[in-house]
Amino acid sequence: MSVRVRFAPSPTGYLHVGALRTALFDELFARKNNGKNILRIEDTDRARYNAESEQEFIESLKWVGIDFDEGPHLGGPFAPYRQSERKEFGIYAPILKRVLEEGIGYKAFDTPEELDEMRLTQQINKQPTGYFGGEWRDASPEKVAEAESEGRPYVVRLKVQRGKRIVIDDAIRGRIEWDSNLVDDPVLIKADGMPTYHFAAIVDDHLMQISHVFRGEEWVSSAPKHVELIDQLGWERPMFVHCPVIVGKTGKKLSKRDGATRVLDYMAKGYLANPLKNFIALIGWSPGDNREELSPQELIDSFDIKGLQASPGKFDIDKLNWLNGSAIRQMSATDLRKVLLEYVESPVTQGYWQTYEYDPESGDPAVDGDRTLETLNLLAEAAKSRHDYCDAAIGLEQERVQRLADFGEACSFFFEDTPTMHPDAVKKWFGQPHVKNMLHELSQEVASRSCSKPEEFEAVLRNWQTSNGFEKLGPIVHPVRVALTGRTFGPGLWELMEVLGNEKVAKRLELARSLCF
Ligand code: GLU
Repeated sequence: MSVRVRFAPSPTGYLHVGALRTALFDELFARKNNGKNILRIEDTDRARYNAESEQEFIESLKWVGIDFDEGPHLGGPFAPYRQSERKEFGIYAPILKRVLEEGIGYKAFDTPEELDEMRLTQQINKQPTGYFGGEWRDASPEKVAEAESEGRPYVVRLKVQRGKRIVIDDAIRGRIEWDSNLVDDPVLIKADGMPTYHFAAIVDDHLMQISHVFRGEEWVSSAPKHVELIDQLGWERPMFVHCPVIVGKTGKKLSKRDGATRVLDYMAKGYLANPLKNFIALIGWSPGDNREELSPQELIDSFDIKGLQASPGKFDIDKLNWLNGSAIRQMSATDLRKVLLEYVESPVTQGYWQTYEYDPESGDPAVDGDRTLETLNLLAEAAKSRHDYCDAAIGLEQERVQRLADFGEACSFFFEDTPTMHPDAVKKWFGQPHVKNMLHELSQEVASRSCSKPEEFEAVLRNWQTSNGFEKLGPIVHPVRVALTGRTFGPGLWELMEVLGNEKVAKRLELARSLCF
């Protein structure tokens, strides 16, 4: 059987990491097996459908590097790929006809009040809640015809056969079984004639010749209904692959802090597509060895359902940060400059930081959105015109930065006319008695010697140290770093002096004197 998988989202909001992982497993499995990956939009719940969300799903998946072979945006042999359009095309009607004619399903005319009452009675009697038949499951054809002739609204429900075990053979979990007496009769067609997810998904999986259904563990409880419908229609079952739930680092439900955020936000924060893909693939799946860093091709080559676990997969943002930082370090400064420019100019990045409000619950570094955007824009400006200077600056910061967004602040002192001074840094070093004079003398010295190489800058500072009787270099380098960068940490001092260049160094040392107290 050829491999055909589908990612079948209901676009009602943002694309989150859970759905992204399902889409990624679909993609990896399809590519590994020379199969087809299909995007199908499950939009039969018209009240919750959101066209922008569909677009965002497509864009986000494209950004991560998940490609489809068929879909609403691509067409294909089983078009249309939106269920609302499939309904319009009359694709479900003949199957519904079969369902009713063969008694696979039945019309149920219960009013919402009657359904409420049924649920209440079940709760009071501590019975399983759900629709197990009521007065319509076995109603006579005359009774049904009468209700219909009165124009009473009805839904079509699946008639789950009672008194048996419903068994599925899940690709990860193995055999799972249910007592069919406890599986309620799901609605297949709503009162407005729209198919429900249960009906449309099963029909489409069959018509689109889907071989494997990858989906989240939360759908396990729907599986007995699905196989019951498939079996009663006499269709072949796809292989169900119920992927493990994603939990936070502490094992609890995924929260915002762990990454229950919009996939596009990861792009805006400066995560790169490949490490993100790598990270997401490793939540609940392992290549079977200790490898943690896998390229997109290695992910495909190693992907195997056997490597999927049944137990919850952990979302660990530290691991993503590490993978992202590592990918950044592996790039050349020139490539990184180009990536950064594209990143900063993206409307997703601009929009995100324009409206950014730091949320302590998010687990993100505490940064200011306006400052981030301002420094990123400065960087982008330089990236367009001052290639060598920009590459040198990026090259120095590349070792420490984990997200593209953080390059703005990290590189800011290279691109600002005068560095933004961090008050703590000023307070710590500029009150010491030797500093004011030292900055002046060093500035003169740097200028008169036209220093340009790291060792030349170093020599000037070391000379000053010995001629002024300082035992250690600390009292010299720390204030100088603050004068040049505005802060107490950063790349190697001699190297950053070289990048800034003689003129800027001399000027900044002199200017900083006014901050001494
Ligand atoms: N439309 C369902 C969802 O939004 C898809 C479930 C499935 O893959 O069967 O998650």
